[in-house]
Amino acid sequence: MSLELLIGPMFAGKSSAIQSIVRRHQSLGWSVLVVTHSMDTRYSAEPAIVNHDKQTMPALATEKLMPLLDHASYAASRLVVIEEAQFFGDLVPFVKAVVDRDCKHCVVVGLDGDAERRPFGRVLDLIPMADRVTKLTAMCRLCKDGTPAIFTHAYAQDAIVSNAEGKPCVGADERYVPMCRKHYLKAKHSVFPDSPLPPSGPSGLTSSGAKYDDPTFDPFTIHAC
Ligand SMILES: [Zn+2]
Repeated sequence: MSLELLIGPMFAGKSSAIQSIVRRHQSLGWSVLVVTHSMDTRYSAEPAIVNHDKQTMPALATEKLMPLLDHASYAASRLVVIEEAQFFGDLVPFVKAVVDRDCKHCVVVGLDGDAERRPFGRVLDLIPMADRVTKLTAMCRLCKDGTPAIFTHAYAQDAIVSNAEGKPCVGADERYVPMCRKHYLKAKHSVFPDSPLPPSGPSGLTSSGAKYDDPTFDPFTIHAC
């Protein structure tokens, strides 16, 4: 019995990772139950794990997890994979039943945070009881050089249509864009480039140039980088 968490932003290859895990265990003869949330209809109305390349894998779509404990396919399974775990309100008691009570292997896959970097659903509550936690990354859509994207930025609906010249702006083709920390913070705080840096000195400085002993320095204030 084991619990593995695969977390990360959107476009981090989580669905592809699921497909790989399922195929590897099926090749060993394991019975695998794949569960996804019934509200996830990004690409298909059919219950399926779909990655961004639109490769599909059959999955059981449900709104609640706990009723699955009485499901025949659950009883037969040796590995349970949960996709879009952030959407399930009963995630924690279900996973406890799967791993601790029924001694199965469980892989939980989902977003660790929302576009505001707040914990998403109950996914993070599973970290203390996990065997392994892996944070996957996407690639920053703005750096375009392979820099890992660790956050998902959500453009407001009215901000993704066009810029002042009427040309599509970044993210016009989609509302959610994977970004590195620098670009995420710039997108969140568009005043960034013009923000004055605190005075710099030879020592005792933060990475932003502010002195640690400066009484006006707030370490939680975001400075230009
Ligand atoms: Zn970037």
